[in-house]
Amino acid sequence: MPLTDKFGRPITDLRISITDRCNYRCVYCRTGNEGALYGDLPFEDYLHMARVLVGMGVTKIRLTGGEPLLRRGVVEFVRELAQLRPQGLKPASFSIGNGAAESRALSKPNFAASFDSGEPLDIALTTNGHLLADLAQPLKAAGLTRVTVSMDAVDPDRFARITRVANGYDHVLAGIRAARRAGLWPLKVNCVLMRGFNEDQIIPFGMFAREEGVTVRFIEFMPLEEGRTWSPTTVVTLDEILARMAEYRPLVEIPHARSETARRYRFDDGVGEIGIIAPVSHPFCGHCSRIRITSDGKIRTCLFSVWDHDLHAQMRRGASDEELEDFIRGVIQKKEERHHIGEPDFVPASRTMVHIGG
Ligand code: SAM
Repeated sequence: MPLTDKFGRPITDLRISITDRCNYRCVYCRTGNEGALYGDLPFEDYLHMARVLVGMGVTKIRLTGGEPLLRRGVVEFVRELAQLRPQGLKPASFSIGNGAAESRALSKPNFAASFDSGEPLDIALTTNGHLLADLAQPLKAAGLTRVTVSMDAVDPDRFARITRVANGYDHVLAGIRAARRAGLWPLKVNCVLMRGFNEDQIIPFGMFAREEGVTVRFIEFMPLEEGRTWSPTTVVTLDEILARMAEYRPLVEIPHARSETARRYRFDDGVGEIGIIAPVSHPFCGHCSRIRITSDGKIRTCLFSVWDHDLHAQMRRGASDEELEDFIRGVIQKKEERHHIGEPDFVPASRTMVHIGG
């Protein structure tokens, strides 16, 4: 059976945080501490979890953190993940090389049987890009499909003030260019906009998208920060971003799949693409296909969950893969219908973004 939650949403997209350490201390994310709070697991354990979940219908894995490129062995881990093959689902009446099963044809399709689809797993990475320049090519060779680099200003001084790291900008730009050379494509650059910090970077990012040939995606700031500085007025909304960018050049919306989180636009002359991820002003929870595994092996069914589910504890007690599957199916049924950002009954998530994995 496909992995589906109680609202009928297929769960195909897994994010694994492989560390909650980070070498950046972005003002909108962290209070400035250095250390990991929850720690991480050996790669074999993440691989085991990924294998079980891919066997249950996950087709896309994104590695995140913390900063995932801080983990030694990440290239080898990607190579191991790339051996996994997503499962296709076929009617139980279908068989290979044996007509007997076909004769059991059912009046209704029965997608009970899964098989190796032969398709490669989609393996993506979200990184701050600081260490990407040297790792882009080895990661691509190991089987990484795509990379998203987080970058919140195109002005180097502003970048340093946001990340609280001197000279980071040059490293990140070198990382973006190395990823492009390595063929990690499509290459996305994510920018979280926060009022008072970087909303003046909207047009410069439009220029950057055109010059560097990357898709720049603006993300609305969500209440997931360590410092609890979020308020509705700190959010630079989709409408505001569009209005500002239109002062630079007209935009044309690109049709997008309902399951895509980003609204996509190209400039009127066809050069450059931007996207806007607007979970606050235009929530997309109804199409959410994601679950997350934290660096310490807990499943989170929503960024805004107030609890998590200890998959690693099940593994430690020696659960079989079938038992892990049962546990995961039970957890998926608890996936929240939607977030409650900005509503009077909003309860902050039990972890902040750096300890979940964005
Ligand atoms: N270190 C990696 C990076 O910088 O991409 C991966 C982890 S980071 C937590 C993942 C993404 O979450 C980044 O793009 C970051 O900008 C974004 N992010 C962090 N806090 C956020 C918040 N409160 N609202 C929206 N996005 C946030």
